[in-house]
Amino acid sequence: MSIRTALAEAGEKDPLFPCFSRADVSFVRGRGAWLEAEDGRRFLDFATGIAVTGLGHAHPGVTRALHEQADRVWDLSNAVRIPSQEALARRLCEITFADRVFFSNSGAEAVETAIKTARRYHFTRGAPERQRILCFEGAFHGRTLATLSAGGRAQYLEGMGERVPGFLTAPFGDLDMLEAAVDQSAAAVMLEPIQGESGVRALSSDALARIRRICDRHGLLLIYDEVQTGVGRTGHFYAYQETGIAPDILATAKGLGNGFPVAAVLATEKAAAGMTPGTHGSTFGGNPLAMAVAQAVVDEILTPGFLADVRRRSRLLREGLDALVLRRPQLFEQVRGEGMLLGLKCRRPVAEVVRAAREACLLVVGAGEDVLRLLPPLTLNKAEIEEGLARLDHAAEILARAPGQASSV
Ligand code: PLP
Repeated sequence: MSIRTALAEAGEKDPLFPCFSRADVSFVRGRGAWLEAEDGRRFLDFATGIAVTGLGHAHPGVTRALHEQADRVWDLSNAVRIPSQEALARRLCEITFADRVFFSNSGAEAVETAIKTARRYHFTRGAPERQRILCFEGAFHGRTLATLSAGGRAQYLEGMGERVPGFLTAPFGDLDMLEAAVDQSAAAVMLEPIQGESGVRALSSDALARIRRICDRHGLLLIYDEVQTGVGRTGHFYAYQETGIAPDILATAKGLGNGFPVAAVLATEKAAAGMTPGTHGSTFGGNPLAMAVAQAVVDEILTPGFLADVRRRSRLLREGLDALVLRRPQLFEQVRGEGMLLGLKCRRPVAEVVRAAREACLLVVGAGEDVLRLLPPLTLNKAEIEEGLARLDHAAEILARAPGQASSV
């Protein structure tokens, strides 16, 4: 049943902006990979709030860190030292290419900060005309006006006024076009190592290496948007680390707080050089609550063996999905992606498949028109992998029985 029908039947009006197509299901508690609905049904969560709760719901260490910090101090302005912020920044620098970190609250904010950082870099080096950020078609960088303009998707920009200038979109993976677009106004290339929203599409290591060379040849900065791919999601702390091709600037969010809003921009000393006092700021960014949670998340993910385990379990999941494609060729076509960011290309509109999965008490997300995105917790165990695969198979059975009409839940 749709929300509109459910509320109409209850004689109520929807008090929320109608921006989201919400399913008529709500959850009262979560534990690990499981969510319990108000009506008692147990759902397996292969959506994790769209790549957010990587450590699962109510992770004990993260919950403890939040409670302990809540008893001490919640918020301070960035006009004073916040030692936990310095400690987390130091840790992120130790494990990546970066020398400097700026904390904010959401992925889009982090991406905006990355864009500002790249433009300020050129500005302070005497090239204020270098403002244009080169992006790939299909990219998703967030919902602020600038990040929407970077992504360039017409349907998201419709009716939102003029597109924010300073972005150029090249066809996905077309590196000749990308290089041909470099002119005196170009400041940076910005990309997701794996595009999540537009169908789990990865750029190869070779492509990243060539993009790195293009940037170096023309004096551009390379920005990775690892908002979705980061914090262990691909089986590496950041996806780029598998390729060895480091950026100059990286945006991270989602999994960093396991559900607590926290984001960051990482940059080299050189790339961050233009972000002088007063050039940027944030009220909540890097507050003690966010830092305590993010530190606990990072500690957990960096526990020796954790990421190797994610890679091992993701291989099991992938093998199971490959087998499912063979078993259900009328519905599923192909598996793609990395680690716990997997896409299942479907032969039916993905919205139908998402609904059928929900009927089977499995939460998944769509990506593009026909790709099912599987974003389970990184901690998923073997039994949960098998259960998830069984529920996907059940969803396929529901669709096979009622072609074109999986009812909404
Ligand atoms: N960048 C990428 C790659 C994303 O997937 C998203 C969100 O889905 C964002 C940026 C925006 O993040 P947020 O919704 O936290 O602003």
